Amino acid sequence: MIKFLNLQKITAKYADEIHEAVLRVVDSGWYLQGAENERFERNFAQYIGTEHAIGCANGLDALIWIFRAYIEMGVMQPGDEVIVPANTYIATILAITENGLTPVLVEPRLSDYQIDDSLIESAITERTKAICIVHLYGQCAYTEQISELCKKYNLKLVEDNAQAHGCLYHGRKTGSLGDAAGHSFYPGKNLGAFGDAGAVTTSDKALADTIRALANYGSSKKYVFEYTGRNSRLDEIQAAILDVKLRHLDEDVALRQSVAQRYCAEITNPKIIVPSISDWKAHAFHLFPVRCAERDRLQQYLSEQGIQTIIHYPIPPHKQECYRQMNHLSLPVTEQIHNEELSLPISPVMSEEEISAVINAVNKFE
Ligand SMILES: *Cc1c(COP(=O)(O)O)cnc(C)c1O
Repeated sequence: MIKFLNLQKITAKYADEIHEAVLRVVDSGWYLQGAENERFERNFAQYIGTEHAIGCANGLDALIWIFRAYIEMGVMQPGDEVIVPANTYIATILAITENGLTPVLVEPRLSDYQIDDSLIESAITERTKAICIVHLYGQCAYTEQISELCKKYNLKLVEDNAQAHGCLYHGRKTGSLGDAAGHSFYPGKNLGAFGDAGAVTTSDKALADTIRALANYGSSKKYVFEYTGRNSRLDEIQAAILDVKLRHLDEDVALRQSVAQRYCAEITNPKIIVPSISDWKAHAFHLFPVRCAERDRLQQYLSEQGIQTIIHYPIPPHKQECYRQMNHLSLPVTEQIHNEELSLPISPVMSEEEISAVINAVNKFE
């Protein structure tokens, strides 16, 4: 069987370095807020190209902390609006509503599934305080036009970089393009921990200090509490593992891109729409999404051929029960993507034979 993602094989690739790192932490007797966090935060900030990185408990928290910190800093208030792509993973929207902010959903382009920047300006109101872009599936969503709109209307640009570690926009890493970025190190992400983990990157010192306090009970000085924060810290053991995997991230992303290159070149079935890529470095291929009018039948067929696939995602946020107040919205592009999308296996550990088997099976789908 060809697994959607073989995490065991990914870990095995770096087993010696990872075992060494884990044992180092175990033997050190120091498990939180120590040297491993410091080192990883420094290396991750350097990798992304920001002044600061703040480790936290998971990717959802990273995004929650960015908006919460802006509220604490007086930049936003509950009730303010944040523009966000309608077809994102729900965590992006949860981070907005968790802070009492209002998500304003903007349709993506069908051509690359990223927020349609030509629709953003008409969604801006007096209450708009930020645009939250999501580099969905690993592809860069940033455009100069979005940056111009932020300047023109004095909006913060927040990036959800959970899926896009290793993605470049003209030589700059996603996660460094806006005012702040939330990162997830969920095990299946391009840079994955062995459990939950996340981080915020920013070059805004005041924001970084506020987030560091919020994620540590609201305290920057022991037993002195400035904010009603939470415990949302990154474990030393996860930081040590992430630091090992960070060293290999670019080579892993290059392997993902080479799988994608073969899929794009060799999948010729007219029933299947593969991503059309103009800048290969601007896609870190966390996922390889295809579209097919008969998506469910394609998934069933591939499963019978021994190929695991996943739908990202079956129900859009505005059709979820938890967002009843948005259920009436009609977002046809988003809904079409959710009806037609299927993600094929992609990872840095797929063999050429496995890639060929996926291509052959997809091409034979009738
Ligand atoms: C995974 C993901 C998150 C949330 O990350 P967790 O670490 O699972 O909390 C947020 N946004 C997007 C787009 C994601 O894919």
